[in-house]
Amino acid sequence: MQRFYIVEKEDNISKKLYQKITQSLLSENKEIDSKNPQCVITVGGDGTFLHAVHQFKHLSDVVFVGLHTGTLGFFTDYEAEEIDTLIDHLLHQEPIVESTHLIEVKITHDQSVTTLEALNEIRVENIVRTQEINVYINHEMMEIFRGNGLCVSGQAGSTAYNRSLKGAIIAPGVDVLQLTEIAGIHHKAYQSIGSPLVLPKDTVITLISDNFEGAKILYDYHVIDLEQASKVEIKTSDKKVNMARYRPTSYIKRLHCLF
Ligand code: NAP
Ligand code: MN
Repeated sequence: MQRFYIVEKEDNISKKLYQKITQSLLSENKEIDSKNPQCVITVGGDGTFLHAVHQFKHLSDVVFVGLHTGTLGFFTDYEAEEIDTLIDHLLHQEPIVESTHLIEVKITHDQSVTTLEALNEIRVENIVRTQEINVYINHEMMEIFRGNGLCVSGQAGSTAYNRSLKGAIIAPGVDVLQLTEIAGIHHKAYQSIGSPLVLPKDTVITLISDNFEGAKILYDYHVIDLEQASKVEIKTSDKKVNMARYRPTSYIKRLHCLF
């Protein structure tokens, strides 16, 4: 690969590592290309990786590789002290590319439809008042949910917000969508499923409410108001994120950074 771009976290360690990678690439006549890179290197954490994905997800062929300045992450394959190994791999090896689909949300207002994508999860959340949501799975009515909101994550996001909601951790290669409740109300009058629901990746989850006032759509670290929207439809996107793997990785090892 010839054209690289580096996205770094705003701390001193990340900035130092960023400089070292930049100098090493330039000294081998590689280009730093902010518009059309072939490979994006992230220096920071899983959060930094997410930011890089949102910055470059319009490029279908770009590959991402992450260096973690904390512990090992879920999107990051190298630890800080492995920087020389990473640079060697970038300069001298061709990676195996593992792709994972983004999740897509289509928000319907009166006349318009807005489409957004996320790698970790898409949430509908209302912290101001009880949010009522009619939940449809593949256009079939499942339940009326009442509470703070709902979270839909894929395999990649299963260890992120989903995990805080007591959703299941999903191993790589298990391609699913997971629907979890955010502070669901369960008593005699209000009933919803309660348990995390794991669905095939081609499932369409439709969320409809008469009143989304105060509700927001949160997609990874982004947020927009739902306000006058009538319908929210979530499914697996056609768009993919390509991860560059220069060596085998262990998911079990990654799990150790969770506890
Ligand atoms: P951030 O501070 O960069 O991320 C929040 C934490 O989530 C960080 O510790 C980050 O790891 C970790 N993380 C992100 N994606 C992960 C994944 N797929 N598996 C395991 N851990 C992951 O915040 P941000 O930049 O706004 O990122 C937003 C993401 O953070 C959201 O998509 C959401 O999943 C997650 N989040 C979780 C909670 C929660 O669990 N209650 C609350 C807010 C946000 P690093 O330290 O390695 O960056
Ligand atoms: Mn962040």
